[in-house]
This record gives sequence, structure tokens and C-alpha cells, in this order.
Amino acid sequence: MDLSENYDQQIYSDKLTTLYTSNWISTAATLSVAAMYLGIQLPTHDTKALFVWYGVLAVIYTCRYFLTKSYLKQTHTPARQRTWMRRFRFAVLVTGLTLGSTVVFFYPHDDVPHQVFTILILAGMAAGGLTVLVADLVCFRGYVCSLLIPVIVSCLIVGDTFYVTIAILVGIFLMIILRASRRLNDIVTSSLQLRYENLALVNILEGEKNQLSNRLGRILNDSSNELYIADAVSLNYVQVNKGALLNLGLTEEEMSHMTLLDTIVDLDREAFNSLIEPLRFGMRESVSHKTFHRRKDGSTYPVELRFQLSTQEDPPVLVVTALDITERDEAERKLLHQANFDQLTNLPNRYYMQSYIGSAFARAKRGHSKVSLLFLDLNNFKDINDTLGHGIGDELLKQVANRIRSLLRAVDTAARLGGDEFLVLLEGLQQQDQAEVVIQKIIDSFKVPFHVQSNEIFTSASIGISTFPDDGSSVELLMQYADTAMYNAKKDSNRNYCFFSHELREYIDKQLAVKNHLRHAVNKGELSVFYQPKINTHNEEIVGAEALLRWHNAELGNIPPDIFIPIAEKYGLIEEIGNWVLKTACMEASSWQGLTQRPLHVAVNISPRQFRTTDFLNTVDQVLADSALPEHLLEIEITENLLIQDTSEPLEILKALHKKNITLALDDFGTGYSSLSYLKQFPIQVLKIDRSFINDMMVNQFNMSLVDAIVALAQNLGLRLVAEGVETQEQLDYLRRKNVHAIQGYLFSPPVPAVEFRAMIQKKAS
Ligand code: C2E
Ligand code: CA
Ligand code: CA
Repeated sequence: MDLSENYDQQIYSDKLTTLYTSNWISTAATLSVAAMYLGIQLPTHDTKALFVWYGVLAVIYTCRYFLTKSYLKQTHTPARQRTWMRRFRFAVLVTGLTLGSTVVFFYPHDDVPHQVFTILILAGMAAGGLTVLVADLVCFRGYVCSLLIPVIVSCLIVGDTFYVTIAILVGIFLMIILRASRRLNDIVTSSLQLRYENLALVNILEGEKNQLSNRLGRILNDSSNELYIADAVSLNYVQVNKGALLNLGLTEEEMSHMTLLDTIVDLDREAFNSLIEPLRFGMRESVSHKTFHRRKDGSTYPVELRFQLSTQEDPPVLVVTALDITERDEAERKLLHQANFDQLTNLPNRYYMQSYIGSAFARAKRGHSKVSLLFLDLNNFKDINDTLGHGIGDELLKQVANRIRSLLRAVDTAARLGGDEFLVLLEGLQQQDQAEVVIQKIIDSFKVPFHVQSNEIFTSASIGISTFPDDGSSVELLMQYADTAMYNAKKDSNRNYCFFSHELREYIDKQLAVKNHLRHAVNKGELSVFYQPKINTHNEEIVGAEALLRWHNAELGNIPPDIFIPIAEKYGLIEEIGNWVLKTACMEASSWQGLTQRPLHVAVNISPRQFRTTDFLNTVDQVLADSALPEHLLEIEITENLLIQDTSEPLEILKALHKKNITLALDDFGTGYSSLSYLKQFPIQVLKIDRSFINDMMVNQFNMSLVDAIVALAQNLGLRLVAEGVETQEQLDYLRRKNVHAIQGYLFSPPVPAVEFRAMIQKKAS
């Protein structure tokens, strides 16, 4: 913002106007002083001459009067202003000369008091001129000089000391007021400059303010939000914006005859008053109200109204903003549906069921009835998905959902918990066997194949059942019970369903006890790692060891890993425990190096759950760095469960591990899917033949041929082979003949504590 513009022209024009307009008082003063002077001079001077002088003065002032009038009549261009300035200066000079001429014409040479009087009057007029003429220095200087120089000159002419002194004094006075006039003129100029700068500032600010409020007004008017201003007393609409007119389908004219209550559907005057009461009492700045607005055609739409009272207006007004919440309502409903319903099957989801089951229990309690929770899991869904594709899998799930729903009464509910897991809630039961009827119907319904895109698909379901209040009253526990019962049903291939039972409860209780102790096992130092040597089949040297976890708890005793590892996995404890094993094993293996001629590797079992996060890679890096174990001496044993997971994360992690030069071994090979495609897809270097095959291969021809097949497969794919659970020399001999690289088993050594393993390798080395 630049205010230092050149205001010279305006200042000049202002000064000119000041000169012209401040004339009136000075005119009156001068004429009266001149009249008094005339009166005093009359006895001693020529009367005629005096009156002629006064007449001339009067004529001059009359001319100046007309001059002023004519100046004020019009506005003037800068060029004209200069002319008017010259005119003014001329008029002032003429006035000054006329006044100053008194010294020439009426100076009483022998009358000192009259002389002093004349000088005083002239000096006074000169000083008075300062106030009215200071705006123009030329004017003022001409004026005072024409008044006082004649005095000085005439005094000097007389020549004696007294008059010379007077001349000097008047001269000094002349100098002083000339100096003062310069200072005053500067002040006038700078105050005018300041005034213009202030004006400019005010203009700029005003301009900005106007621009802002214009813009704001325009924006508010054009806004698609509805804005209303209504008289706070009569509630008549005073002003509304375009958005409002558009949404209501009304014209401005029509709106001006309506009140707020005509458009809001649910408020009468009384209700309205109590709604805005907090505004009237100044207790709140605004109040909101969710309602419907009525359009001209009678239809309505949901709005959220916000009222504000403006008492600054006269009369006070209510400012109402209305937000059309049709879309928001719709989105909220959608979100609610999304949160509570499964998108694929449109069945309620797990989240919804959690609260719904609670209300079903409450109903059962009031009606003294039972509720059965059926956990249903498809048996071969994974295969169907893998072989026929996800699209068909999804379609199958939809059909399964519809089939289940079609078998239920209105009071029952089917839900999808995720994947191929469904939950059925049977309400209003008097006896458990009533549930059995429905269960049987569901199971029978699966005997009929599903048809998906010209595929005929057979599938079956395993169902676990828990019942309220027989098995308990906690939603969470009953869900868990039904889940456990379902797994039990799955385990037994002769059964499709299983009711939760006393034995299962004991099983769960035990699991919970194990979990509670396991939680503190790492901290309490209850865990240890045993090492089972791996032997080269040809020279029978130790090539490494598998790290196997052991847990001893004071209360529970020794718990085998087969029991507690699944529990640790289920309850999210495996990460902490698994990391501990990895760290301990790597530290230990690092200490072996140098004890023997050849480096020894360590194999660590890793659960699928540990692969869930990429954190695992960081942990491995950290452990290798801390233990200083060379990467290629770490072997990671995974099971096929990991490879069949839906996500691509495990594959990424395995690739990264492989890149780090870490060996990857596939454990328990032969018991799971043993799919060739997995072996190709994943960077596996070692296959571990499961001990169940080795166990009886010498007596079981089928297992022997399986072992043969695995050996052939591994050799074809260039994978190394390790046979687990080798207990007899016979088994070893056979495996050696088959060129299996390494064996592990009781024949050579069971898993042993770290110290024993170290002693073992030292003994061998010596
Ligand atoms: P696995 O990985 O298959 O481990 C081999 C199991 O076979 C070990 O049982 C071992 O003691 C046993 N074994 C070794 N030689 C013979 C033999 O000649 N005959 C027989 N009958 N068994 C033999 P263990 O130590 O009870 O471990 C059981 C399972 O627990 C392991 O099976 C593994 O899956 C899991 N496990 C052990 N430690 C860990 C661990 O640190 N992390 C994870 N995630 N799982 C572990
Ligand atoms: Ca293993
Ligand atoms: Ca194994």
C-alpha cells in the first residue's frame, strides 16, 4: 500500500481555497481597524484625503469580495488555479500597499504618539496577516513587506537615532515574522500532506472492506447451502439466498409472505420459541435442529438448521443456515449397513452379531427359552477357491448363504463371520434337540450340489453348537465354545456337527490355563531351547542342529511344544516367544563356530503368524547382527500352512530372506498339500520328510513308496533332503542308499540342552 503519492496539486488547491475563504473575518477586522485609524487621524490630517484613502480601501475589499465569490462559484483546473492564485496575490499586494501608504500620506512627522500608533497598527496588521495568509508565502511576504518597508524607509529618511532605532526594531520584527511564516507554512503543508495520506488510507481500507463484504455477500447468495434471514419477532422471511429459493422451489416474492414456521415441518410457534430461547437469553451463540423442509410442491427433504440471533440489526433478525443432509443421511445409512452387513452375501457380519446375540440372550431370558449358536465352516472351500478361482468361490458363498437362510424360521438369524465361516442363531428353543432338527436340515441341504457358472460343486459343512443358557451366558464365551465344537466336528471325519460338551469345556479351560501361564513364560525364564543334531548320512558328521523349544512351568510341569505352540499362536503370544527362540538359537549357534572344523548351521521353526508383519525381517537382521552369526548358517523351517495363505506377504518375506542368503526349509513335507506349484513358486532349498513316513516305512510299503516319491521329486527340483524321526539303523541305511543328505532322529540323538550339544560337538571334534 503506497500512500506517499504526490499530493502537491491538492495541497495547492486547498491552500488557495483557504486563502480565499478565510477572507471574511480579516476583511471585517481590517476595515474596522482602518475606520478607527481614520477617526484618530481626522483631527490632524486632511479629511478629504483620509476619506479617499478609506474609499480606496473599501473599493479594494469590495473587489476582493466579488473575486472570492467568483472563485468559489466554480471548480478550477490546475492551470486556472495558478491564475486565481496570481489574482489573490495581486489583491493582497494592493491591499498591503494601500495600508502601507498611510506612512507616506498620513505620517505625522511631529506627533510621536500618532507615529507610534500608525506603526503599531501596521505591525498588528502584519501579524494578523500571518494567520490568514500563511498558506501562501509569496502572498504573505508581499503583504508584510508592503506594510512595513514603507515604515522602515520613512524612519530611516528622518535619520535621527530615535527613528533609526524604530526602523531597526521594525526591521527585526519583519525578519521574525518572515521566519515564523516559513515555519508555519511548512506546518500547514505537512498537515495537509498528512491529511491526504490519511484519507488515502481510509479509502484503501474502505475499498477493501467493501470488496470483502461484496464478495462475501455474493458467495453467500450463490452458496448451495440455504441461508435465511427472518424477523426475530414475526419470524417473517426478510431475505433468503439463491440456494434456499432453489431448494424450496419458491420465488423471493413468495418467500417474503412466509414465515420460518411455513417451511419447517415439525415446529409450531411454541416449540420454536422454546428452541431459540437460549439465543434470546444470550445463553448460546447458536442452536441446531434436525428436521425436514417443505418445498412449494409439498415434498420434503432432511435439513440440519442452525439458528443465530443478531440483535445488532433493527429489528433483530434470526439468521438461519440450512444444510441439506439428504446425501449425508444416505451415506450414514450406507456406512451403517457396511459396518453391520457383509457386502458379499448381505448377511449381518460378526460385528453386528456381537451385539445382536446379546439381545437374543436377553429375549431368551425373559421368555425362559434357549438360544443355540451354530458355527458353520465349509470343509473344502480352500480347494474350491484355489482350483476354480475366487469369482466362483464368492458366488458359492452367496448360494450357501441363501440356502442356509431359506431353511430358517423368521426368528432365526444367519450371519457371515468371514471367509467360509457362518453363524446361525436359533431363538425361542425349548429343547436342544429342536436345534438338532435345523442342523440336520442344513447338513442335508449340502447334499444337493451347488451350480456356479456351469460348475457342479459339492461341499459340506462342519457345525459346532453352543447353547444359552446351558453352556453359559457370555456372548464371547459361547462364540468360543461353538468355535471349539466346530473344530472338534472337523477333526472327526464321521461327524458333521458337534455340541459343545463338558469335555470340551475342560479342554478350553486347560487351554486358557496354559495361555495364562505362557504369557509370563519368557519373563519368568521358564523357556529353554534344546538342540537336535542333524547328521550327514554319508560320513555321519554333525552338520547342524534344529532348535526346539522347551517349557517347564512350576504348576503345569513340562508342556510339550505340540500343545503350547498352537495356544501361543491362537492367543497372539507366538511373536514374542518366537523372537526369543530365534535370538537364543542364533546366539548359541554363533558360539559353536570354531569348535569344529566345519561351520554348523542352526534351524529355527517359525510359525506362519510370525510372517504377518514385515517386522520379522527387521528382527532377523537385528538378531544376526547381535549374534554375529553368518546369514548362511541360519535355516528357517516353515510349514506348508504358510504357503497356502491368501495374502502375498509371506511370499515377499520369504523372497527377502532368500536374498539375505538365509536357507529356507519346508518342514513336515508330505503331510499337507505337498503341491508342486508351491515348491516352484517359493524359494525353498530344503525339504524335511515328515517323521510319520520315516517311522514305519520299513514295514509300510505305501509310506516307503511315498518316501521314494519325495526323494525323486526333491532330486528333480534340486532340493536338499532331510529325513526326520530316524530311529533305526535300518532306516538310516535305506535313506543313505536313497541319497538323502541328512537325517535327524533318536537314532543319533534326541533334542538335548545347549550344554550337552556343545559337549557333543567338542567330543566329535577331538
Ligand atoms: P518338528 O519341527 O517337526 O520338530 C521335530 C519334532 O520331532 C520334535 O518334537 C522332536 O523332538 C521330534 N523328534 C525328533 N527326533 C525324533 C525321533 O526320532 N522320533 C520321534 N518320534 N520324534 C522325534 P518337539 O520338540 O516336541 O516339537 C514338536 C513340534 O513343535 C515341532 O515339530 C515344531 O513344529 C514345534 N516347535 C518346536 N519348537 C518350536 C519353535 O521354537 N517354534 C515353533 N514355531 N515351533 C516349534
Ligand atoms: Ca521343524
Ligand atoms: Ca517336522
